[in-house]
Amino acid sequence: MYNKVTVEDLQVKGKKVLVRCDFNVPLDENGNITDDTRIVGAMPTIEYLVNNGAKVILCSHMGKPKGEPVPELSLAPVAKALSEKLGKEVVFAADDNVVGERAKAAVQEMNDGDVVLLQNTRYRKEETKNVDEFSKELASLADMFVNDAFGTAHRAHCSNVGVTQYLKPAAAGYLIQKEIEFLGNAVNNPVRPLVAILGGSKVSSKISVIENLLKKVDKLIIGGGMAYTFFAAQGKTTGNSLLEEDYIDYAKKMLDEAGDKLLLPVDTVVANDFSNDAESKVVEGDIPDGWEGLDIGPKTVKLYQDALADAKTVVWNGPMGVFEMPNFAKGTNAIAQTLADIDATTVIGGGDSVAAVNQAGLASKMSHISTGGGASMEFLEGKDLPGIVALTDK
Ligand code: ADP
Ligand code: MG
Repeated sequence: MYNKVTVEDLQVKGKKVLVRCDFNVPLDENGNITDDTRIVGAMPTIEYLVNNGAKVILCSHMGKPKGEPVPELSLAPVAKALSEKLGKEVVFAADDNVVGERAKAAVQEMNDGDVVLLQNTRYRKEETKNVDEFSKELASLADMFVNDAFGTAHRAHCSNVGVTQYLKPAAAGYLIQKEIEFLGNAVNNPVRPLVAILGGSKVSSKISVIENLLKKVDKLIIGGGMAYTFFAAQGKTTGNSLLEEDYIDYAKKMLDEAGDKLLLPVDTVVANDFSNDAESKVVEGDIPDGWEGLDIGPKTVKLYQDALADAKTVVWNGPMGVFEMPNFAKGTNAIAQTLADIDATTVIGGGDSVAAVNQAGLASKMSHISTGGGASMEFLEGKDLPGIVALTDK
């Protein structure tokens, strides 16, 4: 488990603190922020630093400008949103070099408690290659570093990893601390029984997660499109369902190793087409020719609810069906409702799983919703996250 210096361990009064945030927010065609979850998530760290008299220099990437200035990917709208949320002006250093003359001048003028936001770090081609030159430039602006960008913690870039070589101490912000606490405890130090729910489209994208979690969980529940490769491994027919032929042997091996730890659907909602309006029915066991599985069936929901009833920790990654289509979202919604109802620590990771829980209106009922899709996946895979490893140990 990580044991890193946190923002509260720093003496920040009067100090220039560079903070890596995840302001990679979605914008509409007019440049308006359509979902400010990530900005809201960064506020506790920013407010703490402002209230404690630091000079707060914020940086983040947005989208993929591929190493050059792209006006549509400017962080200007983020500066505006931040100013509103903080109730105080956040100065935007509109500097195409990120750390150029304008940025340096803006930092020069700061008083204690002021906030400056730098331009999109990916305007610089060095950023994603973790090239020293840009890391040094970023570090030269500040006295200490805080990383609160969990969403990029699985990448080693200048603004989260390179910079820690030149700016010490490097501390974890509140958001990263919360991610480490919930994901870390769920996987490595859980209150048992620990149940993992894995779904989504493909076995192939979740192999490392399955392997890592199988060693740790008391039960592993499988749903979503990946279930059908396991069906094939059991000798069942799968009709037109998602099937990864190359992974059938792998699924067989997993079934052998897992024994009765692993739960598979006992019934399936099948459709005659991949569309919300398709004809559908519930089948048990084999999936007939001409039909494809798009959701878990009602008996499976009951089976999984029973398996979750006494769980004390639950980790969920991957929806149980094609939740984007209302007619095939029932299984996913029922599992989300179950997690909302049980007396357990519930941790949701993975972009689509989080979207499904939001769509069901149950996000506030979960113990923790991870803010990093890729990063939370790598955490569940048991991998070290470079953005966290690079922070100063306690
Ligand atoms: P996450 O982002 O939570 O890690 P994934 O990306 O692995 O999840 O999978 C999410 C996708 O899996 C969704 O778009 C969903 O529609 C799809 N999916 C789930 N069940 C099925 C199924 N039975 N057939 C086809 N696609 C499915
Ligand atoms: Mg996904």
